[in-house]
Amino acid sequence: MEASIGQKQKPQHKEEDEFSLVSISQLSLSRPSSSSSPVVARFSCDSGVAELRFLHESESTDVVTADLTTSQLFKLGPLESICVSEGSEEKSYSRGVSIRFRSEAESTAFHSAFQKWKKEAINQETELQNGSVLESRNKFDTKIEASSAKMYFHYYGQLLHQQNMLQDYVRTGTYHAAVMENRADFIGRVVVDVGAGSGILSLFAAQAGAKHVYAVEASEMAEYARKLISGNPSLAQRITVVKGKVEEVELPEKADILISEPMGTLLVNERMLESYVIARDRFLGSNGKMFPTIGRIHMAPFSDEYLYVEVANKALFWQQQNYFGVDLTPLYGSAFQGYFSQPVVDAFDPRLLVAPPTSHVIDFTSIKEEDLYEIEIPLKFIASVGTRIHGLACWFDVLFNGSVVQRWLTTAPGAPTTHWYQLRCVLSQPLYVMAGQEITGQLRMVAHSAQSYSLYLTMSAKMWGPGADQGGILQTSSCKLDLKEPYYRMSQPQPYPMAQDLQSNPLINSLDTPIQSQDIDGSELTQQQLQNLSAQLQ
Ligand code: SAH
Repeated sequence: MEASIGQKQKPQHKEEDEFSLVSISQLSLSRPSSSSSPVVARFSCDSGVAELRFLHESESTDVVTADLTTSQLFKLGPLESICVSEGSEEKSYSRGVSIRFRSEAESTAFHSAFQKWKKEAINQETELQNGSVLESRNKFDTKIEASSAKMYFHYYGQLLHQQNMLQDYVRTGTYHAAVMENRADFIGRVVVDVGAGSGILSLFAAQAGAKHVYAVEASEMAEYARKLISGNPSLAQRITVVKGKVEEVELPEKADILISEPMGTLLVNERMLESYVIARDRFLGSNGKMFPTIGRIHMAPFSDEYLYVEVANKALFWQQQNYFGVDLTPLYGSAFQGYFSQPVVDAFDPRLLVAPPTSHVIDFTSIKEEDLYEIEIPLKFIASVGTRIHGLACWFDVLFNGSVVQRWLTTAPGAPTTHWYQLRCVLSQPLYVMAGQEITGQLRMVAHSAQSYSLYLTMSAKMWGPGADQGGILQTSSCKLDLKEPYYRMSQPQPYPMAQDLQSNPLINSLDTPIQSQDIDGSELTQQQLQNLSAQLQ
């Protein structure tokens, strides 16, 4: 993966960090040369040797290359520094490069990067002299498989995926509103954008008057973020893009506020909440704020005969006894279990819920990173209707606890749809309940090294029917699902309302979620749902 300032060098990987400069000029007496056109300073470790190169932005040829092990950097003024490389056997004289920065913050960030890379270069030299290279792994690298991380950052390095998030106007609009309504939290403040992507949230923070924003992004998207930010010159002066993981980069100052969009499906997918919490511990000053501040996972049992049949029928293929003369039935059971291990992602009608939801709160300001490795949520519901329960429906919301306005971003069914939709865990054995009956159980989520979670769901209800009052026997249904392998059901037509027609049963309204989109009334909601449906049918 691309790495950054502060990471120990792994020679087999290409690693670099780049700063845009106003200009440089060489102080060499024998060969005076200067460049007043824009240049970049690039710390890199392309072939196992850490070095600092100054290049013209437009050309790939070096203006100067400095050996980090023997170079020193001196501050001459707020925007000016000088980098001196000692002479060597081949070069009998020392060389100096005078550097001009765009802003004081960039100068500070460059100095901090210089010290870090210099330290690494020296360590590396010592290690190489000793004949071995030590692998230092940060928290991210120790818990996440390299192949998963590679795919993950490759995905986010592509503009089309960033566009997908930017085009989720519910998401991006809510962030914009939350920042702008709480300008007081941003004016004159130092902000860190955790996983900046295209840099959109950094730009919002700068619009809201931030003193300086550090946009930390590990994927190749960091280069596009630089481009986007420089194209908005009134804000660019106050934003520095730092390419690298939040687990490994060094920043020159503490932040007053963190902004991030670390939410995946079911809130926790992608395990980026852990990076958000690590960023809090590494960068946020005391009494700092976090946008978002808390997250909640909401859960309720649902009844959806059509979905159940659809999932179960997928395995029917394996019931053929004469597939080109081959009996496929030995694999029917495995295929059946396989389909039920996929959480279903789509936007469903809240009338499918059969009990008021329960919720689990995650406070980003206080939770320990390790507490996100395993999350156990006890379940207890009272069925509102007599029906067959096909599983557990889940969604989440996050709160921006601004000092002026508290705004929620919700992904609830019935609310304007987001790119997260909702998630449903379908039980291979449905449960039968009567109105007023208690449903108990547990949802256990265990993080795995492929940046996702295994979900263990158990739901139970007392048997009903003849003899149930004496026995009180529990009917229990369990399943294991992999959050990394969802079934995206968006292209399926959804013939709601269902046979069990729960009439107007707005259980969702009993949610304590204060959906703050006051601007969305019932008619717009219906329109939104129609739009979604037509998109699915296209
Ligand atoms: N903030 C942007 C992008 C959100 S997507 C927006 O709201 O539109 C999450 C981004 O975080 C991705 O671009 C991903 O590459 C980045 N990211 C995830 N984990 C990271 C980590 N540990 N360090 C740095 N960036 C990370």
